[in-house]
Amino acid sequence: MSDYDNAIFRLATAQEAEPEDYTGEDGLLYCGSCHKPKEAYFPEGRTLFGRDRHPKECDCQRKRRETLEAADREQKHREEVERLKRKGFTDPAMREWTFGNDNGKCPQMAKARAYVGQWEQIKDGNHGMILWGEVGTGKSYLAGCIANALMEKEISVCMTNFALILNDLAASFKERNEYISRLCSFPLLILDDFGMERGTEYG
Ligand SMILES: [Zn+2]
Repeated sequence: MSDYDNAIFRLATAQEAEPEDYTGEDGLLYCGSCHKPKEAYFPEGRTLFGRDRHPKECDCQRKRRETLEAADREQKHREEVERLKRKGFTDPAMREWTFGNDNGKCPQMAKARAYVGQWEQIKDGNHGMILWGEVGTGKSYLAGCIANALMEKEISVCMTNFALILNDLAASFKERNEYISRLCSFPLLILDDFGMERGTEYG
Protein backbone atom coordinates (compact mmCIF):
# COMPACT_ATOMS: atom_id res chain seq x y z
CA MET A 1 0.00 0.00 0.00
CA SER A 2 1.18 3.53 -0.73
CA ASP A 3 1.34 6.06 2.13
CA TYR A 4 -1.78 7.68 0.71
CA ASP A 5 -3.75 4.42 0.56
CA ASN A 6 -2.42 3.60 3.98
CA ALA A 7 -3.68 6.91 5.31
CA ILE A 8 -7.15 6.32 3.80
CA PHE A 9 -7.21 2.81 5.23
CA ARG A 10 -6.31 4.16 8.65
CA LEU A 11 -8.96 6.90 8.42
CA ALA A 12 -11.52 4.26 7.57
CA THR A 13 -10.48 1.99 10.42
CA ALA A 14 -9.83 4.71 13.00
CA GLN A 15 -10.57 3.67 16.55
CA GLU A 16 -11.99 5.75 19.34
CA ALA A 17 -9.45 7.26 21.72
CA GLU A 18 -9.07 5.30 24.95
CA PRO A 19 -9.84 7.21 28.18
CA GLU A 20 -6.16 7.25 29.24
CA ASP A 21 -4.95 8.64 25.89
CA TYR A 22 -3.64 12.20 25.92
CA THR A 23 -2.61 15.01 23.57
CA GLY A 24 1.14 15.45 23.28
CA GLU A 25 3.14 18.65 22.92
CA ASP A 26 3.00 18.26 19.12
CA GLY A 27 -0.81 18.29 19.24
CA LEU A 28 -1.14 14.60 18.31
CA LEU A 29 -3.06 11.95 20.24
CA TYR A 30 -0.81 9.67 22.30
CA CYS A 31 -1.51 6.24 23.74
CA GLY A 32 -1.83 6.22 27.53
CA SER A 33 -0.29 2.74 27.72
CA CYS A 34 2.75 2.69 25.43
CA HIS A 35 3.09 6.51 25.06
CA LYS A 36 3.48 6.26 21.28
CA PRO A 37 1.45 8.57 18.99
CA LYS A 38 -1.83 7.23 17.64
CA GLU A 39 -1.83 9.87 14.89
CA ALA A 40 0.60 11.38 12.41
CA TYR A 41 0.45 14.61 10.38
CA PHE A 42 0.24 14.32 6.62
CA PRO A 43 3.59 15.24 5.09
CA GLU A 44 4.29 18.80 3.90
CA GLY A 45 1.17 20.24 5.50
CA ARG A 46 -1.18 18.40 3.16
CA THR A 47 -4.75 17.62 4.19
CA LEU A 48 -7.28 14.97 3.33
CA PHE A 49 -11.04 15.52 3.78
CA GLY A 50 -10.18 18.64 5.78
CA ARG A 51 -7.94 16.75 8.20
CA ASP A 52 -4.24 17.46 8.71
CA ARG A 53 -3.55 14.09 10.33
CA HIS A 54 -4.30 10.40 9.99
CA PRO A 55 -4.50 7.62 12.58
CA LYS A 56 -1.34 5.60 13.21
CA GLU A 57 -0.84 2.39 15.11
CA CYS A 58 0.68 2.69 18.55
CA ASP A 59 2.73 -0.26 19.87
CA CYS A 60 -0.27 -1.82 21.68
CA GLN A 61 -2.45 -1.63 18.57
CA ARG A 62 0.33 -3.12 16.45
CA LYS A 63 0.82 -5.99 18.91
CA ARG A 64 -2.94 -6.67 18.99
CA ARG A 65 -3.05 -6.70 15.18
CA GLU A 66 0.02 -8.95 14.89
CA THR A 67 -1.46 -11.38 17.42
CA LEU A 68 -4.72 -11.54 15.44
CA GLU A 69 -2.86 -11.99 12.16
CA ALA A 70 -0.72 -14.79 13.63
CA ALA A 71 -3.83 -16.56 14.95
CA ASP A 72 -5.44 -16.21 11.53
CA ARG A 73 -2.35 -17.67 9.78
CA GLU A 74 -2.25 -20.54 12.28
CA GLN A 75 -5.92 -21.33 11.72
CA LYS A 76 -5.48 -21.35 7.93
CA HIS A 77 -2.43 -23.60 8.33
CA ARG A 78 -4.36 -26.07 10.53
CA GLU A 79 -7.21 -26.14 8.00
CA GLU A 80 -4.80 -26.88 5.15
CA VAL A 81 -3.05 -29.67 7.11
CA GLU A 82 -6.46 -31.14 7.98
CA ARG A 83 -7.48 -31.06 4.30
CA LEU A 84 -4.23 -32.79 3.25
CA LYS A 85 -4.64 -35.51 5.89
CA ARG A 86 -8.25 -36.17 4.90
CA LYS A 87 -7.23 -36.40 1.27
CA GLY A 88 -3.91 -38.22 1.67
CA PHE A 89 -4.49 -41.01 4.20
CA THR A 90 -6.49 -44.08 3.33
CA ASP A 91 -6.80 -44.96 7.03
CA PRO A 92 -7.37 -42.32 9.75
CA ALA A 93 -5.13 -44.35 12.13
CA MET A 94 -2.17 -43.18 10.03
CA ARG A 95 -2.61 -39.69 11.52
CA GLU A 96 -1.16 -41.03 14.77
CA TRP A 97 2.03 -42.33 13.13
CA THR A 98 4.17 -39.31 13.93
CA PHE A 99 7.69 -38.60 15.14
CA GLY A 100 6.05 -37.20 18.27
CA ASN A 101 4.37 -40.54 19.06
CA ASP A 102 7.45 -42.63 18.21
CA ASN A 103 8.63 -44.96 20.99
CA GLY A 104 12.24 -44.69 19.85
CA LYS A 105 12.66 -48.42 19.22
CA CYS A 106 13.17 -48.22 15.47
CA PRO A 107 16.85 -47.57 14.77
CA GLN A 108 16.06 -46.37 11.25
CA MET A 109 13.90 -43.45 12.37
CA ALA A 110 16.79 -41.01 11.86
CA LYS A 111 16.61 -41.83 8.14
CA ALA A 112 12.94 -40.82 8.08
CA ARG A 113 13.78 -37.54 9.79
CA ALA A 114 16.58 -36.95 7.28
CA TYR A 115 14.17 -37.67 4.42
CA VAL A 116 11.80 -34.99 5.73
CA GLY A 117 14.63 -32.58 6.54
CA GLN A 118 16.09 -32.82 3.04
CA TRP A 119 12.73 -32.97 1.30
CA GLU A 120 13.42 -30.18 -1.19
CA GLN A 121 16.59 -31.82 -2.53
CA ILE A 122 14.93 -35.25 -2.47
CA LYS A 123 11.97 -33.97 -4.45
CA ASP A 124 14.19 -32.13 -6.94
CA GLY A 125 16.28 -35.27 -7.44
CA ASN A 126 13.16 -37.46 -7.55
CA HIS A 127 14.66 -39.80 -4.94
CA GLY A 128 12.46 -42.57 -3.64
CA MET A 129 13.02 -44.80 -0.64
CA ILE A 130 12.44 -48.51 -0.16
CA LEU A 131 11.75 -49.79 3.33
CA TRP A 132 12.61 -53.48 3.42
CA GLY A 133 12.14 -55.80 6.35
CA GLU A 134 10.12 -58.38 8.23
CA VAL A 135 6.49 -57.85 9.18
CA GLY A 136 6.17 -55.82 12.38
CA THR A 137 9.45 -53.95 12.12
CA GLY A 138 7.73 -50.58 11.88
CA LYS A 139 8.02 -49.87 8.15
CA SER A 140 4.48 -48.50 7.84
CA TYR A 141 4.91 -46.43 10.97
CA LEU A 142 8.14 -44.96 9.66
CA ALA A 143 6.53 -44.08 6.33
CA GLY A 144 3.56 -42.58 8.20
CA CYS A 145 5.94 -40.34 10.17
CA ILE A 146 7.32 -38.99 6.90
CA ALA A 147 3.82 -38.44 5.53
CA ASN A 148 2.56 -36.62 8.64
CA ALA A 149 5.67 -34.45 8.94
CA LEU A 150 5.48 -33.37 5.28
CA MET A 151 1.74 -32.69 5.51
CA GLU A 152 2.45 -30.50 8.55
CA LYS A 153 4.61 -28.47 6.15
CA GLU A 154 1.62 -28.28 3.77
CA ILE A 155 3.15 -30.73 1.32
CA SER A 156 0.66 -33.05 -0.32
CA VAL A 157 1.28 -36.77 0.31
CA CYS A 158 -0.77 -39.85 -0.56
CA MET A 159 -0.30 -42.93 1.60
CA THR A 160 -2.11 -45.99 0.32
CA ASN A 161 -1.30 -49.58 -0.57
CA PHE A 162 -1.12 -51.61 -3.74
CA ALA A 163 -4.13 -53.81 -2.88
CA LEU A 164 -6.34 -50.71 -2.55
CA ILE A 165 -5.04 -49.30 -5.82
CA LEU A 166 -5.78 -52.56 -7.65
CA ASN A 167 -9.24 -52.59 -6.10
CA ASP A 168 -9.95 -49.04 -7.21
CA LEU A 169 -8.62 -49.72 -10.69
CA ALA A 170 -10.80 -52.80 -11.03
CA ALA A 171 -13.86 -50.87 -9.83
CA SER A 172 -13.50 -48.09 -12.38
CA PHE A 173 -11.59 -49.52 -15.25
CA LYS A 174 -12.67 -46.74 -17.61
CA GLU A 175 -11.29 -43.93 -15.46
CA ARG A 176 -8.02 -45.60 -14.67
CA ASN A 177 -5.96 -43.01 -16.54
CA GLU A 178 -7.42 -40.22 -14.42
CA TYR A 179 -6.95 -42.36 -11.34
CA ILE A 180 -3.29 -42.95 -12.08
CA SER A 181 -2.77 -39.29 -12.99
CA ARG A 182 -4.27 -38.32 -9.62
CA LEU A 183 -1.88 -40.66 -7.81
CA CYS A 184 1.04 -39.24 -9.74
CA SER A 185 -0.01 -35.66 -8.92
CA PHE A 186 1.13 -36.07 -5.29
CA PRO A 187 4.71 -34.90 -4.75
CA LEU A 188 5.12 -38.01 -2.58
CA LEU A 189 3.26 -41.29 -3.05
CA ILE A 190 3.72 -43.93 -0.35
CA LEU A 191 2.78 -47.51 -1.24
CA ASP A 192 2.49 -49.51 1.94
CA ASP A 193 2.97 -53.29 1.80
CA PHE A 194 4.31 -53.05 -1.71
CA GLY A 195 5.12 -56.55 -2.91
CA MET A 196 2.89 -58.23 -0.33
CA GLU A 197 0.11 -58.56 -2.85
CA ARG A 198 0.86 -61.75 -4.65
CA GLY A 199 -1.95 -62.66 -6.94
CA THR A 200 -3.08 -61.86 -10.40
CA GLU A 201 -0.83 -61.33 -13.34
CA TYR A 202 -2.45 -57.91 -13.78
CA GLY A 203 -1.49 -56.96 -10.22
ZN1 LIG B 1 -0.32 1.93 22.83
